[in-house]
Amino acid sequence: MGVADSELHSHVGQESPDAGRLWTDVLDYVRPRVSREGFETWLAPTRGRAIRDGTLEVDVPNSFFADWISQRYLAEVRAALSEVTGQELAVSFRPRDSADSGVLIRRAPARRPGIRANGYRLQAHLTFENFVVGESNRFAAAAARCVAERPGANYNPLFIYGGVGLGKTHLVQAIGNQALRLKPALKVYYTAADDLFVELIQAIEKNARIEFKNKYRSLDMLLLDDVHYLIGKERLQEEVFYIFNSLHDAGSQVVFTSDRPPQDIPTLEGRLASRLGSGLVVDVQQPELETRIAILRQKAVMDHADLPDEVAYFIAARVRTSVRALEGSWVRLLALASLDGRPITVQLAQEALKDILREDEPVDHNRIIKACADSYCVSTTEIVRGGRTKQLALARQVAMYLLRTTLSLSLKEIGALFNNKDHTTVLHAIKKVGELRIADPAFAARLEKLAKGINGGEVR
Ligand code: ADP
Ligand code: MG
Repeated sequence: MGVADSELHSHVGQESPDAGRLWTDVLDYVRPRVSREGFETWLAPTRGRAIRDGTLEVDVPNSFFADWISQRYLAEVRAALSEVTGQELAVSFRPRDSADSGVLIRRAPARRPGIRANGYRLQAHLTFENFVVGESNRFAAAAARCVAERPGANYNPLFIYGGVGLGKTHLVQAIGNQALRLKPALKVYYTAADDLFVELIQAIEKNARIEFKNKYRSLDMLLLDDVHYLIGKERLQEEVFYIFNSLHDAGSQVVFTSDRPPQDIPTLEGRLASRLGSGLVVDVQQPELETRIAILRQKAVMDHADLPDEVAYFIAARVRTSVRALEGSWVRLLALASLDGRPITVQLAQEALKDILREDEPVDHNRIIKACADSYCVSTTEIVRGGRTKQLALARQVAMYLLRTTLSLSLKEIGALFNNKDHTTVLHAIKKVGELRIADPAFAARLEKLAKGINGGEVR
């Protein structure tokens, strides 16, 4: 027993605080240089254990992690080590349990603001350069860039809204990072409404409300994420209005994000109403196919992985709800690929995504046309062939619009599905539906419901 004990002891060794600290510094350096999902999955669960004979020993959950990190992140880690220590230190990854084949896929981590040393609460990798622009977010991205370049001058406040995982946080963070890059002296601060709430409560408890107010009033740019959290929180709302008004009066920039438009947050809208006029409200929508493919490609580049076109297409055609879901799928695929060093293929993607795809087949155009026909109580043949009734014309236009927005078919391809209509007819239909969507909330709701129904075979 004594033998076993001492063996165990020498095997486990002592954790060295220096190694722990050094490794934390290395990770801080690497974090902005790799994809967030990659970082959280592979690097976040590691710990610096000891420095021995010129080697930094790092604990990793299992041998799979050791291989993966060595294959994919060694270059970044080495660069970080020499940057941080100013000398050549070797690094070795030690599986905590060498017999373990391991649980490989972790759920996406909860939002954890990586606080930058300068206290702005900006994550360095959430930049415009890393943000893929497509139809779904073009306007929002352009407005965000404008605000970053001339804070307080153009759109104040800027209000960005849209569903979960569509890039709102990324965009506001990019505004902050870019504004600071252009003017390092700017006082920029990012916070989410729920964090602000906690801060406010603490300030009240500590009798430090003045400090709280002063901190916010003195900013040049406030990035307030997820303001739908204000709903039903009177006290928080009051503080936010106070802060907002004093910032606005001083010409400082405010950017809000929310999962819904301002008019759906009644008290906010009421109190900001006069000021929203001087601002801009933009939305981010679900990315269309090309954008989803481009996003996957970008993640692959950041993870130094080979992603063949057909695999990118395979995933992008099936994972449509959000960019976050896309990232999650990508990480699962990477994890599986690395298990037995298999190349990334469609077959592997099928395997990796089988439990998160409710249905294997992507949406096809027939399904969209049928959903529209059903919704407007016309037959598929009628909708394809066309006819004179208003109902039929609208059903067709809606179908064309949805084919464009969900499948990203070209105008020509869409025309071909409707008795070879020419592309100007298709364009007209899409424009008309787009206008109706803005002008008529009931129509917009119906359209959204229809789109959701089509997206039924979706990632949960
Ligand atoms: P939201 O705040 O709207 O819920 P996030 O901004 O947190 O969404 O985006 C979710 C994830 O998807 C983040 O990791 C973000 O970097 C990534 N992401 C979102 N949109 C894009 C995009 N257009 N290009 C690249 N990455 C994106
Ligand atoms: Mg967010």
